[in-house]
Amino acid sequence: MKEGEVILKPGREKSLLRFHPWVMSGAIAQTSGELSVGATVVVRDASGAFLGRGAWSPQSQISVRMWSFAEEAIDVQFFHRRLECCVARRRAMLPAGVANYRLVHGEADGLPGCVIDRYGDYFVCQFLSAGAERWRREILDALRALFPEAKGCYERSDTDARQREGLEERCGLLYGEEPPLLLEIEENGARFLVDVRKGHKTGFYLDQRENRAVHSWPAGGEVLNCFCYTGGFGVCAALAGARHVTQVDLSADALALARQNAERNLLPEGTFEYLQADVFQQLRKFRDEGRSFDVVILDPPKFAERHSQLERACRGYKDINLLGAKLTRPGGVLMTYSCSGAMTPELFRKVVGDACRDARREAYLLKELSQAPDHPITLNFPEGHYLTGLVLLLP
Ligand code: SAH
Repeated sequence: MKEGEVILKPGREKSLLRFHPWVMSGAIAQTSGELSVGATVVVRDASGAFLGRGAWSPQSQISVRMWSFAEEAIDVQFFHRRLECCVARRRAMLPAGVANYRLVHGEADGLPGCVIDRYGDYFVCQFLSAGAERWRREILDALRALFPEAKGCYERSDTDARQREGLEERCGLLYGEEPPLLLEIEENGARFLVDVRKGHKTGFYLDQRENRAVHSWPAGGEVLNCFCYTGGFGVCAALAGARHVTQVDLSADALALARQNAERNLLPEGTFEYLQADVFQQLRKFRDEGRSFDVVILDPPKFAERHSQLERACRGYKDINLLGAKLTRPGGVLMTYSCSGAMTPELFRKVVGDACRDARREAYLLKELSQAPDHPITLNFPEGHYLTGLVLLLP
């Protein structure tokens, strides 16, 4: 059968000419040829001019995710070249000695729907789009060829994104040895246990690696770490000399690992308090009790998956930031994050600014943070920028 072909409506080629990698269903005028799930299609503008090749996702709003804007075959060698580029970029982006990082970050690495995280000797992969699923064998072969010394590779394709593409969840060993039940990693001198089978994402929030390290944590201070997951920010704070850290999360499993992580770093048990609670309620409780902290960290899950949820998300961010600001001692620091892609840094600054104002606190921006560079942002794909952090001094 003839290679699939997608002809765009007049004027709808503009974003592709700027190397934006998505073709939305509404931009398509007509299709022909082989159009099975994940099939490679040629994309042309209304006059028939070649724009590139991408993967056909019939179930998604994003009908085509572009593999390439050049006239080149999409085959085994293509994926090998793409992965080689990812390796070279990581070498340029990361300080020497970082052993745990995102090797492939989907669209921003020219491999839409494909995520590969490295935890030392092991890789954890996600194939989240029809195209990535179609080429999984070839991508894995390239990975194996480039890292022959790696011990094993595990799959965590159990996300909502996969559902939207009409793909079944898939988890399990892809090749090599089963990773240990808890993998131990080292990050900026701290040690963490990672559950690659059941943990969030591929097990650990690698995107916050640099943000966990940038802080001048106040020695001897009291820290409130909200949405702590396995304790990352709290452990870093304690290692830097915080006197007391309160770790709050809804998940008992996450807190159990947070406890183990504190032990792994030989931190005295008395340094930590663990609260399994809803942060929205816990912050109110602290407010009513008159508790306050030198540093308050807010790193909630995504409140907005898409644009339509942004307004509700803003209310959520405003609520926790208002309470967080109230609980921050005069002269203390509020570190607040949003990992909602739809939330721009400008809007987040505004929401947090409004929250601080309502808390009757001035807020000085000490630092604006983003995702670690191994979760790259390309300027032609602004959607790839999802993590914003504000480090605020509250006099
Ligand atoms: N800061 C962490 C990552 C946070 S991920 C790190 O650096 O590793 C978000 C966490 O929020 C998850 O662990 C999730 O269990 C928790 N969570 C989600 N909703 C919550 C709520 N309402 N109250 C408390 N924790 C919540």
